[in-house]
Amino acid sequence: MRKKIVAGNWKMNNDSQQTETLLEELLSKKPENTIAKIVVAPTFVNLQAAVKQTAGSNIIVAAQNMHQAESGAYTGEISVNMLKSIKVNTVILGHSERRAYFHENNALLAQKVTTALAHNLTVIFCFGEELADRQSGNHFNLVESQLREGLFHISESDWASVVLAYEPVWAIGTGETASPEQAQEMHAFIRSLLHTNIGSKIAEETSILYGGSVKPDNAREIFSKPDVDGGLIGGAALKADDFLAIVAGI
Ligand code: PGA
Repeated sequence: MRKKIVAGNWKMNNDSQQTETLLEELLSKKPENTIAKIVVAPTFVNLQAAVKQTAGSNIIVAAQNMHQAESGAYTGEISVNMLKSIKVNTVILGHSERRAYFHENNALLAQKVTTALAHNLTVIFCFGEELADRQSGNHFNLVESQLREGLFHISESDWASVVLAYEPVWAIGTGETASPEQAQEMHAFIRSLLHTNIGSKIAEETSILYGGSVKPDNAREIFSKPDVDGGLIGGAALKADDFLAIVAGI
């Protein structure tokens, strides 16, 4: 059975006090009564405290990004070993905001993926088309090239450490969600790509999350689709009740 996962990407929100408070709320509301793996991704400066606070719980703490190099003169950047040294073993790579605002392209993301996997991190690999791609009917091609160029170079054994997150850019933070049918159509396409290019076992075992304006009132229907294995949640992950309601939709 594929893993069900609900991940909260907190983006550049929550200072250290707010991080502690939100985690406290999540922990006190007993998220352990779920089959879903729960992931939260606070900002870098709050990761260490978040790891300590969630120790012993079923909440996994992830980073939102990392640099591709092992170390060196890269002012302002964070390396894989820095994450590992504070027991962060999961990283989100390729988020559309990183691609759009920080010019992360497929080639760079391929390097980041390689570095993360070489150090045994779990990678939540994000990708998805922009509105213009969908309107011109190019969305399947675009998604395929993001996967081929950013991810398909990894070894077979590394796939066990990869989670895919399909996030159509037009649905992120816009209040507009892909319909459950649109999500399923793309997820089935992604899984068929894995079947053809990587192998059937990996295709069946790799979790594919949907992201883009997932809310408590639409989560259950989206998650009910056969190829949707959970969600990557932005805005609605910032309120404990909303996030846990989404988790309950698994
Ligand atoms: P959203 O963000 O839920 O606020 O649309 C999703 C994401 O960026 O991962």
